[in-house]
Amino acid sequence: MRHAPPSRLLASIQGARVWTDVVGAGTTRIRIASRWARMLGFDVSAYLVGDLLVDTGFAHVRTQVLELLEGRRIAAVCCTHNHEDHTGNCGPIGDRHGCPVYLRHHRLRWTEGVRRLKPYRTWWWGSPGDYPAEEMPEAVGDGERTLRALPAPGHSITHVALWEEETATVFTGDLFIAPGASAVMVQENPYDLADSLRRVAAVEPRWMLTGHGMVVADPVPRLLAKAVKIEEAAALAVELHRAGMADRAIVREVFPGNHRRDRMIEALTQGEFSRLNFVRAARTHLRDA
Ligand SMILES: [Zn+2]
Repeated sequence: MRHAPPSRLLASIQGARVWTDVVGAGTTRIRIASRWARMLGFDVSAYLVGDLLVDTGFAHVRTQVLELLEGRRIAAVCCTHNHEDHTGNCGPIGDRHGCPVYLRHHRLRWTEGVRRLKPYRTWWWGSPGDYPAEEMPEAVGDGERTLRALPAPGHSITHVALWEEETATVFTGDLFIAPGASAVMVQENPYDLADSLRRVAAVEPRWMLTGHGMVVADPVPRLLAKAVKIEEAAALAVELHRAGMADRAIVREVFPGNHRRDRMIEALTQGEFSRLNFVRAARTHLRDA
C-alpha cells in the first residue's frame, strides 16, 4: 500500500514535535504535538509496551514517528480507536515493520465520519489514508508482555481500553478526555460511554494512561465519578426535553458555568464537537427503561 511520503517541510510548517518519556514499568510514552495541537492545549500520546505499540499519532508528524521507531521491533499496533489523531500512521508503520494493525470492529471504521474528514481535521492532524486493519483479538502479546482488549464503545464504536494486568495499567485512548460530562462528537453514545468507564474501573487499574498524555494513579474513583456524572447529565437533558425545553436552553442547564474551552472547541470544530451533541445524544440513544 502507498502512503504519502513524509515531508520535512510540511512537518516544519506544522511545528511537529515528538518526544518520549518513561511512565511506569517499562512503558514508553510517545508524546506527539504540532503547533495546532498545542494551541488546543493537548498533545496526543502513543505508547510502547515492550514491542507493542498502542496508537500511532497523527499524520502531520509521520516523519518523526517513523524515525523514532526506526530499528525497533514492533510486534503489533493496537489501536484504541479509529480517530485520525491516533491512527494517522498505522499504514506506514505496518508496512515498515511488517506487523499487524489491530482495531475493534474494523469493518465499521468508516461509518463514523472519518472517511472524509472535515477540513479542520485534515488541517489539525492530517489524513491517515486507508490502512489494512485486522480485528482486535482478546489479547495481543509480544512474547513477554500482553495487552487485553476491553470493549469500550461510546466515544467510537471501534474503541477499546488496553489492559496490562501484570502492571495494573490501562491504556484508555479517548475514553477519559475530561472529568464529568462534556462536549462530545456527533456520533457518541453517552450511555455506552458510562458502561465502558465502569467496565474499565472493574478491572481495578492502578494506572491509567490516556490518549492525550494524562497519567492517572488510582483512577477508579475518577472513572466511576465520570460515569455517574454522564448519566446524571443525560437524565437531566431528557427530563428537560420532555418538559418542553429547547435544546440550547437545555445545554445551559446541563452545563452551567463558563465552559470557555468547550465553547472554543465547538467553534473550531464547526459544531462537530459540542455540548449540544451531548444533549441530543442523551435523547437519541436513550434505552428502554
Ligand atoms: Zn477520539
